[in-house]
Amino acid sequence: MIIAKSIKELYKAKKDLTGSIGFIPTMGALHNGHISLIRQAKDENKIVIVSIFINPTQFLEGEDFSTYPRKDLADIEICKMSKVDILFMPSIDSMYKKDELTIMAPAIAGYVLDGASRPKHFDGMLQIVMKLLNLTSATKAYFGKKDAQQLALIKQMVNHYFLDVEIVECEIIRECNGLAMSSRNSYLSPEDKIRALTIFQSLNLAISMIFKKELNTNVIKQEMKKILSKVDKIEYVEIVNRDFHSLESVELQQTIILVAVYIGDTRLIDNIWI
Ligand code: AMP
Repeated sequence: MIIAKSIKELYKAKKDLTGSIGFIPTMGALHNGHISLIRQAKDENKIVIVSIFINPTQFLEGEDFSTYPRKDLADIEICKMSKVDILFMPSIDSMYKKDELTIMAPAIAGYVLDGASRPKHFDGMLQIVMKLLNLTSATKAYFGKKDAQQLALIKQMVNHYFLDVEIVECEIIRECNGLAMSSRNSYLSPEDKIRALTIFQSLNLAISMIFKKELNTNVIKQEMKKILSKVDKIEYVEIVNRDFHSLESVELQQTIILVAVYIGDTRLIDNIWI
């Protein structure tokens, strides 16, 4: 595996390789969720590139940019074991210019749900994903459904900016107890983790209500919120279609049920696609 720590090194590493490129952008502290994306990319491409870059522009003032888990040595080993071809770990200075040309998330889809509580978060996210897609010349790029709104906005950017890359949607990987894997789970104490399980329980409750033909989204959301009573703050429980428009009634094959909560200072998100 080649570790490229600069853009020059990335270009040099890419030069000798031929064939389709599968790309997985990450912020590191890799876990089985990331590894599942890498495995899928390995199956579907000749070359696999992983990036680790904690992108400052997608963190808001007061968020956890400075404390975000950094586990470079372990991450390098994980990538080696997963047979990644190139691991790209650029510096912040190399990725951003002075008087930067910026990309803005769409005014509606970028400012609901996560975008409502984290205004400008998606601007920064789209900016860095655009740069990374261009730098890697990815044939296919792999993103988790865990960040459902991020995934939808990236697909929109690829479509609106005519980018020549296929965006692959990857399933959410969970702990055996149902907690969706996340680098931020390392902030949780054992007691926090037990309370965090109510997120998956609330999503499961929604599924069982839908199975019993309860399609009214207000009724489902109310019942989900009861289960979430042990979290410190419910930011949202939402039921939307694939375009992220709120639904009054669940539409099978078209619906995403999303939850964002706080356990202490840790913000956790999860969702299911129905
Ligand atoms: P991050 O390092 O958190 O920026 O995530 C990098 C990529 O991994 C994103 O596309 C995430 O959606 C994806 N990802 C993170 N956690 C999971 C998970 N539990 N299951 C599947 N994909 C995930």
